[in-house]
Amino acid sequence: MSARFDYSTAPPAYVWLNGKLVPWAEATVPVTAMGASGGLAVFEGVKAYWNPAEEQLYIVRLDAHLKRLYDSMKIVRMVPSYRPEELAAAALDMLRANQIREDTYLRPVAFYDGVKLPSFRYTVGAAPDICLSAMAFHTHLLQHKAKACAVSSWTRLSDNQSPPRVKVMSNYQNNRLAFTEAFVDGYDDAILLDERGKVTEATGACLFMVRDGVVVTPSISHGILESVTRDTVIRLCRDVLGLTVQEREVDRTELYVCEEVFLSGTGEEVTAVTSVDRLPVADGQPGPVFLAVERLYHDLVRGLDRRYPEWRTPVYEPTS
Ligand code: PMP
Repeated sequence: MSARFDYSTAPPAYVWLNGKLVPWAEATVPVTAMGASGGLAVFEGVKAYWNPAEEQLYIVRLDAHLKRLYDSMKIVRMVPSYRPEELAAAALDMLRANQIREDTYLRPVAFYDGVKLPSFRYTVGAAPDICLSAMAFHTHLLQHKAKACAVSSWTRLSDNQSPPRVKVMSNYQNNRLAFTEAFVDGYDDAILLDERGKVTEATGACLFMVRDGVVVTPSISHGILESVTRDTVIRLCRDVLGLTVQEREVDRTELYVCEEVFLSGTGEEVTAVTSVDRLPVADGQPGPVFLAVERLYHDLVRGLDRRYPEWRTPVYEPTS
């Protein structure tokens, strides 16, 4: 068994909290707030990749992540005090204040601190606290990372229970139960089915399969987070690789007989799935579509491939 990501644990020197850059050690939440705020937080995971030749840090699809943060807040009826443009500027300020020059994971969180009485009525329509923080991570792109996945015995949440399209902390107990079960059983990750037995996604990433040459992924109304990376991968497969992409229902047993399975997500980047329930996917090696997507994704997020400039927000002034 191995850890999923090799994130550095070093905290940033500064976080952005409610409009100010605050030294990390001073950005604290009262201990009494933690229980009350436990599930009342929506968040994003955004990555920024360092381009050494340009001495530039590129934030990947910042606008799309902020759009999803605001969608999450709307669905859970948080009324933010900041506009998306202000948070985009705050993200740049925070990364610059920390003088970050390495691959970095950026985490915006909107949360109720729970200092007031822990009653739902005090949260209705209230403005959340907002914090932006960052930590270094090690990319596995171009290493052809592969996972052995199990189909989980846990069922994916559904829209009318706790909507999976909301990136709310409380949803992640569902993912964690599935991940933990798979991990203790010797797998790297789990794939969750919905209550009708259809494939949804992995515990922190969306799922693609290649079947009869067609790239297939569950649609956004099949119990998945509306993933930014999923959209990126669909567009790369269609527009750059010229492949047919279908968004449709996927059966568990299709994963056993298809040519390729792979996962995509901001944290996940892209990862091949080389077995499902201990059945090898095709020959049990990362497949050609995955390898092409991995190369494209790596080159685009680091700004080595200059296409799709709207997907990269540069943090620093260009040096030349
Ligand atoms: N599904 C889940 C459950 C996730 O946590 C993530 C990671 N945010 C994804 C999918 C991938 O989403 P994105 O590509 O926007 O990071």
